[in-house]
Amino acid sequence: MRFRPRRYQCPNCQWDFAFRKKRCCPGCGTLLLIASDMPTDAELTAIKSFWMWEPVKEKWDYIRDWEEHKREAMRRFEQHTQVWRTELVKAEEKLHPPTRWIQ
Ligand SMILES: [Zn+2]
Repeated sequence: MRFRPRRYQCPNCQWDFAFRKKRCCPGCGTLLLIASDMPTDAELTAIKSFWMWEPVKEKWDYIRDWEEHKREAMRRFEQHTQVWRTELVKAEEKLHPPTRWIQ
């Protein structure tokens, strides 16, 4: 069996390719980042806007402003943590109901 590399389609020019040229679309040169490129935060801050491969959605996501994107992700994470804590407290109460009435 031959190894078949994953194919991507450029979100800009629709070029279908398996390998990028220096992180860029071989067709139009648009910067297309994949997580395995391991771009540093400083690099992304400098680039600011770019396309990034979203493996879960299997599509390219356009990051308009990396700083903004990070803030948004952080906010979502905080909300998520908040919901999670609330759920945890509820579960805890179910397990150990308030015992004030016993005394
Ligand atoms: Zn392209």
